Amino acid sequence: MKKKRSRKLCKMCNGEGHKPETEECPAYVSEQDVICFKGKDCVFSNMYPCKLNFDELEFNCSESAYQWRKAMDINEPEIAQRILLAENGFEAKAIARELSAEDVDEWKEAHSVKVMERVVDAKFQQVAEFREELLGSGSFILVEATPNKFWSAGLLENKARKCKPSYYPGENMLGKILMGLRDKHNCNNNSSVKHSSFITRTNKDYYTISYVGLVNQSFVTPICR
Ligand SMILES: [Zn+2]
Repeated sequence: MKKKRSRKLCKMCNGEGHKPETEECPAYVSEQDVICFKGKDCVFSNMYPCKLNFDELEFNCSESAYQWRKAMDINEPEIAQRILLAENGFEAKAIARELSAEDVDEWKEAHSVKVMERVVDAKFQQVAEFREELLGSGSFILVEATPNKFWSAGLLENKARKCKPSYYPGENMLGKILMGLRDKHNCNNNSSVKHSSFITRTNKDYYTISYVGLVNQSFVTPICR
């Protein structure tokens, strides 16, 4: 009997018979309108330092506000207090790792997205540079490019740029929340979209990208699977 040769699967799409980042790969895209972000220097990132009032307290970034709310909801006020006093988002996140994994999983399931939406909304209301950058990002796809598979794409920037979002191993949930917020404000304010492009959320997986100007046209595109 002939021995079956083990075939290497493409790391981008899991398909056979081609290499990643080649024209044969259905996940590959040579260029796309994408903004990748992560870390303290990018305004879209939760680690970006900014004065933020949330639930009547003052935080030094949106990450700290999110982690504090999580600790309070899990009924760990001492950990929450240390998060509140943390120097930055990285420290806040590290302190939150002391919370019981079981409690965190339960909380995440029920509350994490809603809390993140509230935190990001507060940042939009209060942090001018965040609001301006977000509204100015047009129809670009916003991608948190870290290995995290829920909030982020699960890929670093060099890979995320060349991969269609529908093939990302991660959900890019933070990117989706940011784009949802941008859509909401662009659609509420018609004057801002007259000569530009905008995205409307068609359902949880698809966005309609519309170009409004001399030629009115729109198409539906998958953002995440
Ligand atoms: Zn492939």
